[in-house]
Amino acid sequence: MQTEADQQLKQIIHDPGRILFREEDLVSYGYDASFGFYKPDLVVQAASAEEVAGILKLANRYKIPVTPRGQASSLSGGPLPVKGGIVLDLSQWNDKLIIDSEDMVAVVSPGVVTAQIDKAASKYGLMYPPDPGSSQVSTIAGNLAENSGGPRCLKYGVTKDYVIGLKVVTPQGEIIHTGGRTVKNVTGYDLTKLIVGSEGTLGVITEATLRLIPRPPASRTLMVIFDHFVDSGTMVTRVLTSGILPSKIEMMDQASIQAVEAYQPLGLPTDAEAILLIELDGHPAAIADELEKIREIAANSGARKVTVAESDDDARELWKARKLVSPAIVRNKPTKISEDATVPRSKIPEFCSRLAQIKKKYQIDLVVFGHAGDGNLHPNIICDKRNKEEMKVVEKAVEAIFQAALDLGGTLSGEHGIGTMKSAYMPWEFGPQELDMMKRIKTAWDPNNILNPSKIFPVPGQKLVLSE
Ligand SMILES: Cc1cc2nc3c(=O)[nH]c(=O)nc-3n(C[C@H](O)[C@H](O)[C@H](O)COP(=O)(O)OP(=O)(O)OC[C@H]3O[C@@H](n4cnc5c(N)ncnc54)[C@H](O)[C@@H]3O)c2cc1C
Repeated sequence: MQTEADQQLKQIIHDPGRILFREEDLVSYGYDASFGFYKPDLVVQAASAEEVAGILKLANRYKIPVTPRGQASSLSGGPLPVKGGIVLDLSQWNDKLIIDSEDMVAVVSPGVVTAQIDKAASKYGLMYPPDPGSSQVSTIAGNLAENSGGPRCLKYGVTKDYVIGLKVVTPQGEIIHTGGRTVKNVTGYDLTKLIVGSEGTLGVITEATLRLIPRPPASRTLMVIFDHFVDSGTMVTRVLTSGILPSKIEMMDQASIQAVEAYQPLGLPTDAEAILLIELDGHPAAIADELEKIREIAANSGARKVTVAESDDDARELWKARKLVSPAIVRNKPTKISEDATVPRSKIPEFCSRLAQIKKKYQIDLVVFGHAGDGNLHPNIICDKRNKEEMKVVEKAVEAIFQAALDLGGTLSGEHGIGTMKSAYMPWEFGPQELDMMKRIKTAWDPNNILNPSKIFPVPGQKLVLSE
């Protein structure tokens, strides 16, 4: 970066320890949990809206790309500095976590770790429902930027359903607020919802006001085992049309079951084609009633076995199976391509069978698990990115997964975002007018295209390339 800009940066960030430029720092800030690597020129750890505003004004003056970043657990390449420039690390700014139990809101700074919000709310009998699998590491601003979901979102909705106000620094360095502290608010355009899910391309979130809800008094977990993968999809649809709304329905396919057993034996049946983990929450009497109905549905959907947890410890033990899938599946090969194509609920069984066909056709190591209840399965391809021939086949399989989801009326991403990993496929889901409307919004907020450039929008002729 220019020396003049360097001088000005030091006036914005007074603590030189928060400006990182050593090679090892730059390299470590070049990765997220997805596939790519892009090295930034500089990393700045911001700790106030004024600092963020100063950096964005400077970046506009010198046309320097700025990429906001939380804990870099993104699976879509969101925090990767594709055009170099500055990585704006917000993960260290985690000093504010206020629970107002009367207004039933939490006010948080951007770097607060997601699980800490629910933990703090629970002390007041309240709950912050969004619970991404990464909630012990991911930041709230990362969740807001990706509009993250999680198992509990089946019943309670995703991140956007819980944010009622934001403080944001625009790409041109203005500090603005959106929404407020009221649960109802229809004053003006809903800029809060525009920022949520914008993947750090429209503004930098510097504070969020989140809605909390009463914590349900009880919960029960059950595990349902299937001989046939497609039957598990059928059961999900039957449960959801039965009048019962579980808080979670998570699915593991046979490859996930076998991987977990090989990693840490839990006594799961490795010959079963699928497992569903279901959690019911609410009043104990209602749960008891729903449990019986679910048993009936399981029996009618071809389930081999139903195990109901009798205590919290039992429930934790059953959930351990699902929690171990991610670490277990990467033991055989080093690369994991995590997709989150999502289909309407009624199409879950068909999506399951399309995935089984794709696995057979391309002979890939495809592991399917995830939030089956909301149609947001996670097909994961386990591969080795050093093997170019294998990666060419993986590219084709990924395309087939996207096509299957779109054929069934679904979408490219249910929660991980588009980032760099799926931008090539945006024209498969949207027409030119729709993409143009989105680009016009981006240009209105960020005329110099300095904030998180090269994300979401496809470059003409762009393809998914995993084999280079
Ligand atoms: C094992 C594992 C499990 C996961 N499970 C789930 C899951 O169940 N559900 C789910 O939805 N996701 C899941 N994810 C994906 C990931 O954790 C989420 O996308 C998460 O929200 C990212 O948060 P982060 O703090 O790591 O953000 P980062 O990865 O650092 O950034 C994500 C995006 O947010 C932007 N951003 C970060 N901070 C700001 C800010 N202050 N202002 C504006 N933009 C900002 C970045 O530019 C980027 O585009 C999982 C990931 C892993 C590795």
